[in-house]
Amino acid sequence: MKILLDTHTHTIASTHAYSTVLELAQKAADEGMEAIAITDHAPAIPDGVHPWHFRNLKAIPREIYGVKILYGAEVNIVDLEGNIDLEDDILELLDVVNASIHKPCYKDYGAKDNTSAYLAVVNNPLIDVICHSGAPDLAYDYERIIDLAKKNHKLIEINNHSFFVRKSSIPNCRKIAEICKEKEVGIVVSSDAHISFDIGDYTNALDMLKEISFPEKLIMNRNLTAFEEFMAEKGKKLFSWHVDAAL
Ligand SMILES: [Zn+2]
Ligand SMILES: [Zn+2]
Repeated sequence: MKILLDTHTHTIASTHAYSTVLELAQKAADEGMEAIAITDHAPAIPDGVHPWHFRNLKAIPREIYGVKILYGAEVNIVDLEGNIDLEDDILELLDVVNASIHKPCYKDYGAKDNTSAYLAVVNNPLIDVICHSGAPDLAYDYERIIDLAKKNHKLIEINNHSFFVRKSSIPNCRKIAEICKEKEVGIVVSSDAHISFDIGDYTNALDMLKEISFPEKLIMNRNLTAFEEFMAEKGKKLFSWHVDAAL
């Protein structure tokens, strides 16, 4: 199968990523994709971008080289209370809000059980996707969180990048995918691209999903329509930046 919408990409706005918006869009166009979400790192990560970056995303055209552009962020879950690092009024503007734990800016790194952090996140109406959550040293109660994700209409990410940079997460990613299959919870398959070349290649994640016979209908970013429909059920309209946001 082909993924036509990438929900997780980074630009040079985060200095440990190396492509521009135009380069990401060009690669997505070359791959025949419909859409990408630009989801740079929120401020708590050491080279995360300033909140103004997110407030001004509307400067980016909604379509580049025939590829639709979704405005997004990858926010940091910063503690066991599930606090995150962008203001609600910014999150309300965005099409895709990804939430992740990154060790350098997670106050409670080392905690044995991170369930309370994820509970707060899946109960936060402004967050859409729980990202790359398979790290063994950031364990949580998968069953409980995935049950609540279903109830609260959240998506669980299977991150292709993890198969290269977070290899210790692979067994847990599989476990998470198996629970999502069993409970019929929607997922997204993303590149988490830090350079344009990674867009369009979801092979490792898709191979794993194939091995466990994961149903395609639960891959909500298989195309833009499926993703828009999922978000609409949640009460969120994509491409609806609703204010003339001032810095
Ligand atoms: Zn991340
Ligand atoms: Zn990322």
